[in-house]
Amino acid sequence: MVVVGLAALGFCWYGVSGKATLDNQTPWLSGAVLAYAVCDVGIVLWLVAGFRAVRRGQRQVVFDTRSALGLSAVLAQGPTAEQAEVAAATLVTAPGMMRFHRPECPLVRGKSVRAMSPADASSADLATCGVCES
Ligand SMILES: [Zn+2]
Repeated sequence: MVVVGLAALGFCWYGVSGKATLDNQTPWLSGAVLAYAVCDVGIVLWLVAGFRAVRRGQRQVVFDTRSALGLSAVLAQGPTAEQAEVAAATLVTAPGMMRFHRPECPLVRGKSVRAMSPADASSADLATCGVCES
């Protein structure tokens, strides 16, 4: 469409070039405006097709990354019983830690933690975390 519009624009430019009066130039000018509109539509369609291709590529990259990391099977399984217990727990700790934390504390994020009740936390000789202030 862009090529057709540019060709029509060139044709209109050539047609108007020898006309001296406004009455003779007006039809060529109208044709040039129409040709410019055709160019605009072509450019918009070209951009939309490009955005679709980029979106399709982004989805493929995410899919490939998940496949390469083996996350597709993990995401399909959902949380394990141990992970569900930790998510429902009010307090967590991990081996080697001197403090107990809330499950959403950034200091335990990504670590293998075990759930514990507040009574367990007080009897286990663990201190309160200063970050999450559990
Ligand atoms: Zn904490």
